[in-house]
Amino acid sequence: MSDVKAIKEDLQGKGVKYCIGAYVDIHGVPKGKVVPISHFESFASGSELYTGYALDGLGQSPNDDEIASVPDLERGIQLPWQKEVAWFPADNTYHGESYPLNTRNVLKSVLARAAEKGWKFNLGIECEVYFLKLTDDGRLEVANKDDNLSKAAYDVKRFLDSYPMLDEIAGYIDDLGWGLYSFDHEDGHGQFEFDFGYSDALTMCDRYIFFRYMAKQVAAKYGLIATFMPKPFGDKTGNGAHFNMSLASLETGENLFKQADRSDPYSLGLSALGYQFTAGILRHGQALCAAWAPTVNSYKRLVRRGLMGYYSWAPVFNSFGTNNRTNSVRIPMAGGRVESRNADSSCNPYLAAALALAAGLEGIEQQLDPGPPRTENLYEHTDAELAELGVQHLPRSLGEAVAAFDRDPFVEQILGAELKKEFITYKSAEWEEYNLTVTPWEIHKYARLY
Ligand code: GLU
Ligand code: MG
Ligand code: MG
Repeated sequence: MSDVKAIKEDLQGKGVKYCIGAYVDIHGVPKGKVVPISHFESFASGSELYTGYALDGLGQSPNDDEIASVPDLERGIQLPWQKEVAWFPADNTYHGESYPLNTRNVLKSVLARAAEKGWKFNLGIECEVYFLKLTDDGRLEVANKDDNLSKAAYDVKRFLDSYPMLDEIAGYIDDLGWGLYSFDHEDGHGQFEFDFGYSDALTMCDRYIFFRYMAKQVAAKYGLIATFMPKPFGDKTGNGAHFNMSLASLETGENLFKQADRSDPYSLGLSALGYQFTAGILRHGQALCAAWAPTVNSYKRLVRRGLMGYYSWAPVFNSFGTNNRTNSVRIPMAGGRVESRNADSSCNPYLAAALALAAGLEGIEQQLDPGPPRTENLYEHTDAELAELGVQHLPRSLGEAVAAFDRDPFVEQILGAELKKEFITYKSAEWEEYNLTVTPWEIHKYARLY
């Protein structure tokens, strides 16, 4: 209790008036009530109750008892742009027990399995985002002007055109102490990327949820919309959220995926543990794809070229390789980490990280071998050539991904039957609704032709 009192006094000293305990729904969207600081003690002990039926993917019927949210007091954030509000990532409980449909709880239970072996799961998520404006006729288009003179990636002028807003977001990341190390213009015009230091997976997922919220808030101040939808434009690159993963010793902090002398079989600077982890990710790659790329729109990103005319940078195959960006899993040049590129910015990071870690742990437990890394431009292969090489295509649609998720028994072992069912129910409905919708493209293509 004294800790709670000390935290309350600290927050009051910093001018905090309100607290939010933000847990997420199945989409990774934060939810919570706003509690005055005067009620901090009860807030801290889980006073806030919610009817799960009012939330996506948290189960429950209207006749059920409420679930509670319990704030993680160690990870509070004072909103950098609204210092009167403190935000705490939160878990859900039901009658005092950890609530199994809360994805943050699920991640914590897989992290505990790794901890039993003496391992900490480190994660870095790359943050790609488009900034859009609403036109007078109600369309969303890229906010900054495009002179189309060169490709947009790393473009300094286009970056500086949006400087005040980008500087504000970057400044907040720094204020929060997340260790911002670079930000730049990404490949799609109007798309930017912010990168900050990796951390333990729970902290990184909390930060990614908060980052999405923060970018939207700051963009709104400039009259813009920050979008994390995976592929807002068919002719521009998508929004990835690459997962950079490694295991470290809990005791010493040493990176257990690093093979500093590059004596590993393919000189990638990856330890035996890292290769085995990779093999686990590949074994469950099809099912994992549903968690990493969970929307209809995600599968418009996972293409070779799309309408862009040039390669997408997004993965298309369940494959592992060197620094080569045409693989879904690559080992960046520096070694010591495994980067999965399937993940997009619409993912629920807790759900995706829980499944990825569990798949990786299985790879280690069973000492799986990912085979040799692919070094060639896989996009250049035809599907027939890929079949001959034994390289699997990733799911081509949300429908295929959900079917793979449903088929793989591993998913239920990690998530439990209820959460698995909930995810499938939501995502199948989304897929069906999409399939039943007649799109403007169809009208344009067929209404006069036939
Ligand atoms: N935006 C690309 C994607 O959709 C990734 C570009 C990069 O490699 O950073 O994943
Ligand atoms: Mg990028
Ligand atoms: Mg990357």
